[in-house]
Amino acid sequence: MYINREICTGCGQCVIVCPVQAIRLVDNKAVIDEDKCVECAICYRNAECPVKAIRPTRLKWPRIIRSPFSNVIATHKITGIPGRGTEEMKTNDVTNRFSIGEIGVSIEVGRPGVGTYLENIELFTTRLSKIGIAYEEKSPVTALIIDNEGHINEEVKNQRVLSAIIEFKIPDKKLSQVLEVIREVEKEIDTVFSVGIISRIKENNTKDIINRISQHGFEVRPNAKVNVGLGKP
Ligand code: SF4
Ligand code: SF4
Repeated sequence: MYINREICTGCGQCVIVCPVQAIRLVDNKAVIDEDKCVECAICYRNAECPVKAIRPTRLKWPRIIRSPFSNVIATHKITGIPGRGTEEMKTNDVTNRFSIGEIGVSIEVGRPGVGTYLENIELFTTRLSKIGIAYEEKSPVTALIIDNEGHINEEVKNQRVLSAIIEFKIPDKKLSQVLEVIREVEKEIDTVFSVGIISRIKENNTKDIINRISQHGFEVRPNAKVNVGLGKP
């Protein structure tokens, strides 16, 4: 993102909307901290700059990787859709991507206001790969993994994004092992993360999955989502 300081009036509108506090006023002119900026384009879309001093720049590799993980309307070429993950994680009722006996796992690293360097992803993926996790093929994060040991492309490790989602599917019996790995990483990581567990609820046994997750010390916030399949052929 670029701010034309020649015409900036220092109104501060862009400072307020930036979700990672990457803009500040210096001598009454807006300045972007290039390292902090995650290229979400919120300042361009939402600041309503009175003099139109903010404009997008043509991003080059590897900086361009920031955009699909941060800008809600940027399309990732792997998924073909905007957003940080794949769409099916939230539409299981329609796609049956996770059937009985299977569990979907998403680990969202970073979030608005905090952000994350992509190297934090590797803390999870190198450990999860050791227990045989195969990542969701079409997930944007999977495209960054370069080997079977879960290493991330060196060129993108120091890129900062709003958040990135690691997605995979496991057999039900592997849940404890995965949760233990996540607890291990929690001790080292320097940003926030949240874990999503997608499971079909067995009849008359709605608390089973909650109890199993709680046993590993996680605070569980159950969410049920029913999709009616609109938009699907
Ligand atoms: S593109 Fe996003 S992160 Fe960068 S300065 Fe604008 S609002 Fe902040
Ligand atoms: S919104 Fe525009 S005029 Fe106001 S501080 Fe930001 S760049 Fe300057």
